[in-house]
Amino acid sequence: MTNPMTSVREPARDTPVLAETDVLIVGGGSAGVAAAVAAARVGARVVLAERYGSLGGLATGGLIVLLLTLDDGLGRPVIAGLCEEITQRMQRAGGAYFPPHEHWGSDEGSLVDTYARWGLIWGGGGSRRVRYSVAYDPEVMRALFNEMVSEAGVELLFHLWGGDALFSDGALEGVAFQTKAGRRAVRARVVIDTTGDGDILASAGVPQETERIHPWLWYRAGGIEMSTALEAGGAFFRTPNPGQALFPWGSAARLDRKIDPTDPVELSEAEVACRRLVMQEFERLREQVPGMRDAHLCGIATQLGITESRRLLGLHVLTRAEMNRDFDDAIAITGHWTRAGDVYAIPYRSLLCHEHPNLIAAGRHISVDHRTHNATKEIPACIATGQAAGIAARLALDCGGDLRKVEVTRLRDELRRTGALLDYPFDPSRSARGSSRTGV
Ligand SMILES: Cc1cc2nc3c(=O)[nH]c(=O)nc-3n(C[C@H](O)[C@H](O)[C@H](O)COP(=O)(O)OP(=O)(O)OC[C@H]3O[C@@H](n4cnc5c(N)ncnc54)[C@H](O)[C@@H]3O)c2cc1C
Repeated sequence: MTNPMTSVREPARDTPVLAETDVLIVGGGSAGVAAAVAAARVGARVVLAERYGSLGGLATGGLIVLLLTLDDGLGRPVIAGLCEEITQRMQRAGGAYFPPHEHWGSDEGSLVDTYARWGLIWGGGGSRRVRYSVAYDPEVMRALFNEMVSEAGVELLFHLWGGDALFSDGALEGVAFQTKAGRRAVRARVVIDTTGDGDILASAGVPQETERIHPWLWYRAGGIEMSTALEAGGAFFRTPNPGQALFPWGSAARLDRKIDPTDPVELSEAEVACRRLVMQEFERLREQVPGMRDAHLCGIATQLGITESRRLLGLHVLTRAEMNRDFDDAIAITGHWTRAGDVYAIPYRSLLCHEHPNLIAAGRHISVDHRTHNATKEIPACIATGQAAGIAARLALDCGGDLRKVEVTRLRDELRRTGALLDYPFDPSRSARGSSRTGV
């Protein structure tokens, strides 16, 4: 905290129990939705608790509307399963755009230029190739997530802010939430932390690393004369909605200092400052970029773009030195959004903590180092680790809720059965040199 803190002693209290379930998932972002749907589809009773009133997290509320890292950058998909289902269903609803299969991996200049205009190609040099990446409409994703959660029979609870891990005789027995009705508890046999910030892990005393970052704030604008503005070099991306553009603001006019995204005071200052800077920047673009004079704001992201905050220090900390290496317990494989040909296998151990057998992480705060996080934070990877955590949680119910006792072969078989791709032909010659970090 930037303000000095004193403390207040609170009396012990009884907290009413709002729900009891097999699997409690805290955080309804892309990882949380995937975990909930995956666990419910294989037969677990699931509660999904989300602090806001809609699903998707940064993938909707943050307007980060690009699925990158679905492929290895050379034309081979590495993430499928739930992420592929989401893509196909958004496309059928008219809310997704991606290159056809025959273009994947191509470095042909005009194709690269076309898809780069959609924000689907990043990185330079040999990595400037057409990727299997997807631009989508956040409202289509929001509606789809509601639909998928409901179809799977998940009990969805909005407006629950997950605060405190609850223990009985030293064992994690659920989470206490702040709600409009007061403090309420949800009891569960397994808890999945998909808050993006590792809030439940922090409350349960699990060690994590915290990163200070530049916050971003993406926005969308309409009423743009596309061809004129694009010809003039307008720094925005096309979207599936004609005449509407996505502005990944932050690169030029971003806040000039890093913040701790878990500090409420720093977050509040950043919210105000970023919104002011976006308004200024948009006004400048309207004045200076041909084709944008009559442009209007369709919406500024409701959530700050927090790339990174806390990261779990789990059973295995996946490092950059382990890029292009397979693991016996790999539960997902992800591409890298700026590097063609480089992939990470994510071990199951990078989702687990030392401290509590029935607590697991999925999404952007899994146990990886800062550089690896650059790849594993991407939405498809968050969906893939969510899917794995959901299925692992269901399997753990047969082992007394102990996630470490889950048979990895069974978990991987179940993941393959539900569409996950785990059999990538790793090229050992691409493995980086360096040491790995196992355990803490
Ligand atoms: C600027 C920026 C650009 C990016 N670009 C891309 C890109 O182009 N492509 C890409 O694929 N990825 C990109 N990413 C990464 C990606 O958007 C995120 O890492 C990913 O969406 C994280 O998903 P998640 O489900 O792990 O977490 P989140 O999306 O953060 O979801 C966490 C959810 O938990 C809820 N929550 C949090 N705390 C609590 C609590 N205590 N109690 C209850 N609920 C809680 C939140 O409201 C939210 O719904 C980018 C990220 C940023 C910030």
